[in-house]
Amino acid sequence: MRLAGKTALISGGARGMGAVEARLFVQEGARVVIGDVLESEGRQVEAEIRATGGEAVFVLLDVTSEAAWQRAVATAVSRFGRLDILVNNAGVGGAGRLEDTTAEEWDRVMDINAKGVFLGTKAAIPAMRQAGGGSIINISSQLGLVGMGESSPQYQASKGAVRLLTKLTALQYARERIRANSVHPGPILTPMTERRRADPAVYERMVSRIPLGRYGEPDEVAYGVLYLASDESSFVTGSELVIDGGWTAQ
Ligand code: NAD
Repeated sequence: MRLAGKTALISGGARGMGAVEARLFVQEGARVVIGDVLESEGRQVEAEIRATGGEAVFVLLDVTSEAAWQRAVATAVSRFGRLDILVNNAGVGGAGRLEDTTAEEWDRVMDINAKGVFLGTKAAIPAMRQAGGGSIINISSQLGLVGMGESSPQYQASKGAVRLLTKLTALQYARERIRANSVHPGPILTPMTERRRADPAVYERMVSRIPLGRYGEPDEVAYGVLYLASDESSFVTGSELVIDGGWTAQ
């Protein structure tokens, strides 16, 4: 078991890649705290994991709230005794031209995708220090590495921010054995991409940009996150794991 004895907190764990990561982590021996704004979906993932004999707890977590993050970390410590792994996975998408983007929409996406990662990291570090170290995995995007005109200013800026916040975290906490790495998925088959995939023209355009010729499956990202969460990656910090079907190789 690759995560035996470890406790993980996964934001946005109620569906999509976060839920797949929660199930995979439990299979590998971890106890998991699932944090999300989607309560019924989150409780369902919790129930499914428990039905298989795994240990999981759902907490209502809005990643833009510092107090909610503190409650989520406190739950990990009180229920499972420690916090070893944080996956800052919660995020929202967006498309739109810069001139048509409102300041409110910019703030909303930046708050969830960028400030949420900062607040989660800030809340987790004292508990990881207490545990003698830890691993923080921040889910950016291939669009945190390269531009795409069809994206939105707030999505691109937020995912770029996650990439460099990860490196700062890695540098400031390396001596405390707290590692931080970013993951950069390309287009993945999750609810986030569902609406745009339903438009055949958009779908074809996206697939034509992916050298492997298809969208990725959520578990193809989750296995990368698992590696970074486990002690197999004990000498890896401040790095970028690109899982994008070749998108950024071009
Ligand atoms: P998804 O929409 O299926 O899941 C995202 C989860 O985050 C949902 O459960 C949602 O409720 C939760 N969330 C949203 N706002 C929140 C908030 N304020 N507080 C707590 N939880 C909140 O999306 P996904 O595709 O699984 O995306 C997971 C991560 O991967 C996101 O950060 C996304 O930007 C990133 N990503 C996705 C793709 C893709 O193609 N799907 C590609 C690159 C990066």
